[in-house]
Amino acid sequence: MTMPSMPASREPLLADTDPEIAQLIKAEERCEFETIRLIPSENYASRAVLEATGSVLLNKYSEGYPRKRYYEGQRQVDAVEELARNRVAALFGADHANVQPYSGSPANLAVYMAFAKPGETIMGLALPAGGHLTHGWNVSITGMFFNSVAYGVRRDNHRIDYDHARDLARQHRPKLIWCGATAYPRIIDFAAFRSIADEVGAILAADIAHISGLVAAGVHPSPIGIADVVTSTTHKTFRGPRGGMIMCKAEHAKLIDKCVFPGLQGGPHNHTTAGIAVAAHEAAQPMFKAYARNIVANAKTLAEALLDRGFDLVTGGTDNHLILIDLTRKNVPGKVAAKALDRAGIVCNYNTVPFDPRKPFDPSGLRIGTPAVTSRGMGALEMRRIAEWIDRVVQKHDDEALLDRTATEVAEFCRSYPAPGIAL
Ligand SMILES: *Cc1c(COP(=O)(O)O)cnc(C)c1O
Repeated sequence: MTMPSMPASREPLLADTDPEIAQLIKAEERCEFETIRLIPSENYASRAVLEATGSVLLNKYSEGYPRKRYYEGQRQVDAVEELARNRVAALFGADHANVQPYSGSPANLAVYMAFAKPGETIMGLALPAGGHLTHGWNVSITGMFFNSVAYGVRRDNHRIDYDHARDLARQHRPKLIWCGATAYPRIIDFAAFRSIADEVGAILAADIAHISGLVAAGVHPSPIGIADVVTSTTHKTFRGPRGGMIMCKAEHAKLIDKCVFPGLQGGPHNHTTAGIAVAAHEAAQPMFKAYARNIVANAKTLAEALLDRGFDLVTGGTDNHLILIDLTRKNVPGKVAAKALDRAGIVCNYNTVPFDPRKPFDPSGLRIGTPAVTSRGMGALEMRRIAEWIDRVVQKHDDEALLDRTATEVAEFCRSYPAPGIAL
């Protein structure tokens, strides 16, 4: 049976053809509007980003790169990708940008492909210390196909142990060293890693997936010009669509491009590329600098308010968008707290803390962050209010009536803060 074709104006809406999915999307919208979203890797993309991402560009196949494609009909797509590439490179001050990786993990795989052969030695921050799976952790392909050596954080202050990383590098002579993290609340010293990499002749890769928005705004030091290659997601503090990007020095540009396509991927997701271009344009505006500064200011205020309420924070506070709470002294497991908070309309995730005596699936910590709440214009007052709610919920995590009452309060509170991309 062929579908009748009809003008777009008469085409049925999603709500008509697939009410189940349409309703789930509506419900997700409501949820994102009525809850306090503290997962530090999440955000609200703007309406402009959503529009570009939900466009007909997703109909196009474009294997290759602008003006070197394996398919015809690329006039618009070439222009879109060139804009995305140029905007990203200009924003970060990079020689070259590749915006085709499907997400952060594939971006990292392309870097492995470029600089290490299977079985060769690589180094990254251990997962329990705040590193990402793709930095060589054992359950990841990157820990299986490469000889992975993990550095960690210091026992005394839970900050990255640069001295130990240097010792390990001297001993194991890695081809590739990763720096960057997924659960680390402090500034990363890219220059220290550069000197370690130079000492052993390794390529230095900085993964700024979490902090790329802060880096673009100058709120966190940039690894550009220090690391050989820089990878990032585009959907965390960068506030674009789900995607990945790689920036590198000119000398590595050809190799990186070749490893993304045809090395690792087929056709680029052109709708995502357009969304990345829009996000890069937004991130170049003065307003975005203020936004990034507010993310950090909010994280510091929230951290202070939690400390005042007797919470232990890993490293004692934060320099960035993220806070790791160690609940050991509160006698509440991270998962129990995360589930109670979710029921109360405060969404975060449970997380291991450094040297966690508990299991990864039932750890001692909570990971929270301020990118999404800051996108809604919340400030210091709101952070103190959120700390008060977190405190109450963690203390009374088994009082279901209180959790439900809090969820109502939170939803009411959230109605005063417009959420980018959501019109209810
Ligand atoms: C989120 C993250 C990634 C992976 O991104 P996905 O888009 O989920 O594949 C890679 N590295 C770091 C440091 C991250 O935080």
